[in-house]
Amino acid sequence: MLLRLTILPGDGIGLEVIEHAVLVLQAVADTFGHQVQLQYKNIGGAALTAANDPLPAETIQACLSSSAILLGAVGSPAFDQNPGHLRPEAGLLRLRRELGAYANLRPAVCFSALEDSSPLRGDLVRGTDMMIVRELLGGLYFGEPRSINGANGSRVAVNTMTYDEPAIERIARVAFELAMKRRKKVLSVDKANVLECSRLWREVVTRCAKQYPGVQLSHMYVDSAAMVLVQRPRDFDVVLTENMFGDILSDQAGGVVGSLGLLASASVGGPVGLYEPVHGSAPDIAGKGIANPLGAILTVAMLLRYSFQLETEAACIERAVNSTLDLGFRTADLARGTSPVSTSAMGRKVVEEVKKIGSSIGRKSA
Ligand code: NAD
Repeated sequence: MLLRLTILPGDGIGLEVIEHAVLVLQAVADTFGHQVQLQYKNIGGAALTAANDPLPAETIQACLSSSAILLGAVGSPAFDQNPGHLRPEAGLLRLRRELGAYANLRPAVCFSALEDSSPLRGDLVRGTDMMIVRELLGGLYFGEPRSINGANGSRVAVNTMTYDEPAIERIARVAFELAMKRRKKVLSVDKANVLECSRLWREVVTRCAKQYPGVQLSHMYVDSAAMVLVQRPRDFDVVLTENMFGDILSDQAGGVVGSLGLLASASVGGPVGLYEPVHGSAPDIAGKGIANPLGAILTVAMLLRYSFQLETEAACIERAVNSTLDLGFRTADLARGTSPVSTSAMGRKVVEEVKKIGSSIGRKSA
């Protein structure tokens, strides 16, 4: 198969983790006989520096003409004082909207080798395996009006949370469909005791559930969900929620399973899928060669699974990550008292394991 991808490394550790994610992609492609065609484009701070636009037209065109997009992360303190539309994050929000990527799938799994890397007790996190389904094109991040107005000292800031029934229904369907292939449980997270958006959300999700009688639906307020996520993370299967709640809960899920640097994501629903690790550009560790590349590497597995239906190749990457962790490789975010390896050493080991596992799969199927 020909895999035509646009690569958007972005900013900070985005560049460092994407370098290794691409090496893993190349290793899988070589092992399984696929051809990879890559074009690199700027987004976020890198694009602001090059063209004073966080999402240049050239980048959008490249993305829309490829089969899938792999993105690192955007964000840099250098642009903190810029107006909203000239911040790196504005480029990513625009890209998601241009792509119509309304469903953000964020799995959080506790690898058995990492039970002791979680700040929670090993017996609490063991077996954690959830899929957070975050609505990606609505809510506060996109709602209009939005502004900061007035004279210094008495300025007023406005953001708007909006959801309509079709937007809730289409994301709910994604969650129910995924649940059918998993443990058949959907937990819908909202704030229906306070917010109108959440009351409509709950009503529409409940109505949609009637078409999935095999799936058990429950509801929880987001504050309560945040608490249960650290008390009983294993209870979660598919978690369905709106844009901002999903953003927050998935970072928390990263903490629960050991590190935000482990989490992958897929933003789908439009004609071209966008794949990005959950973490940001991490300016505090950028340039040090210590970032965990596993979230970005696992993102490649999601890309192969969801955009190319290459399940064996995706599973090969996941097994390679598992065995790298089983062998004791830990970047600084995961090292608890053991000496950490660099981003490159972790990436190289996964490539080695991909080749080993891939060729054993090849031998079995021959
Ligand atoms: P962040 O995710 O960049 O970092 C949060 C913490 O997690 C930091 O301590 C960081 O060192 C650590 N961390 C994150 N990824 C890691 C990895 N792979 N390995 C090891 N440690 C890792 O979030 P932040 O600090 O709140 O934001 C930094 C910048 O990133 C901001 O400009 C923000 O807007 C942007 N951001 C971008 C995205 C995205 O591109 N999708 C997502 C979140 C934040």
